[in-house]
Amino acid sequence: NTIRKIAAGEVIERPSSIVKELVENSIDANSSQIIIEIKDGGTTYIRVTDDGIGMEKEDIILAFERHSTSKLKNIEDLYKIVSMGFRGEALSSIVSVSNVEIISRTKENSVGNKAVFEDGKLKFIEPIGANVGTTIIVKDVFSNIPVRKKFLKTNSTEERYVADIVTKIALGNPSISIKLIRDGKLALNTNGSSEETNVIYQLLGKDIAKGINLIEFEDDDLSFKGYFSNNNIYRSNRNSQYLFVNNRYVYDYKLAKVIEEQYSSMLPINKHPIFILYININPALIDVNIHPTKQEIKFIEENKIYSIIANQIKKNINKIVN
Ligand code: ADP
Ligand code: MG
Repeated sequence: NTIRKIAAGEVIERPSSIVKELVENSIDANSSQIIIEIKDGGTTYIRVTDDGIGMEKEDIILAFERHSTSKLKNIEDLYKIVSMGFRGEALSSIVSVSNVEIISRTKENSVGNKAVFEDGKLKFIEPIGANVGTTIIVKDVFSNIPVRKKFLKTNSTEERYVADIVTKIALGNPSISIKLIRDGKLALNTNGSSEETNVIYQLLGKDIAKGINLIEFEDDDLSFKGYFSNNNIYRSNRNSQYLFVNNRYVYDYKLAKVIEEQYSSMLPINKHPIFILYININPALIDVNIHPTKQEIKFIEENKIYSIIANQIKKNINKIVN
């Protein structure tokens, strides 16, 4: 169990990492509505409820074992991953650093199951009345690992990390309704809309929603929809630059620089444009397996992709500038 706790640290750094893994699982389970509730920045309480496909009793027990995933059928799949999670590490890591309760029901069953895990072990599992979908409650993160608990920041900082990750996931999945409730108060809310601009408005506010312009591109292996701010709307940092590759939030410093270069005649280098860029690419052309939290990816034909994006922005620059 020590090894498991050490390994858990790679995936589970703080409450927001737990929220990320749980919500991504809900997305993989085809949910259309996800409700996230946290208390004390997520340090004492995290609850994620979804209306997805749910889990059978045996699957609940299995899911919390290390390297158990229902998402990889064979090793080739690793190279064309489309689902959010794939390592089968998240749930087993979460139970090794906190106490977990899960309630889940599939639509094929009239009752659900409730399981409680303590100290990394299954305490009990029993039938319970439940809606179709899954609810996971995580309590007292790192209470069994004092050294790690010491590294947590203030509750309000942890809250910000959670809000940030939920914003990214919600922006990347505009068709799913996502709510974040913080200490009993609604903090973020999207309705689930096919219009990305609605979700951008709901999450990033009116000023950004009004100051961005759409550039679209479509080819066989690559298409993108990018909302780029005009030169009157910018930030002093890159925190409002959102890149999604196949709906997954990723950070790509080089691409950010490539995009900013297109603004260089309009904005000084310390002023960063805002963008929300959705790239859809043949999964065979990316390597998502380079980092355990999957926030970084590698485009296999990096320079080709960067130049397509740069050229499209250049070509449409009069659409972007005010
Ligand atoms: P991974 O997502 O990498 O497969 P996880 O540890 O995150 O690994 O989850 C293990 C398994 O538990 C998943 O493969 C999935 O089958 C199941 N699972 C987890 N969360 C949910 C959920 N919200 N709804 C349905 N199934 C889930
Ligand atoms: Mg997962």
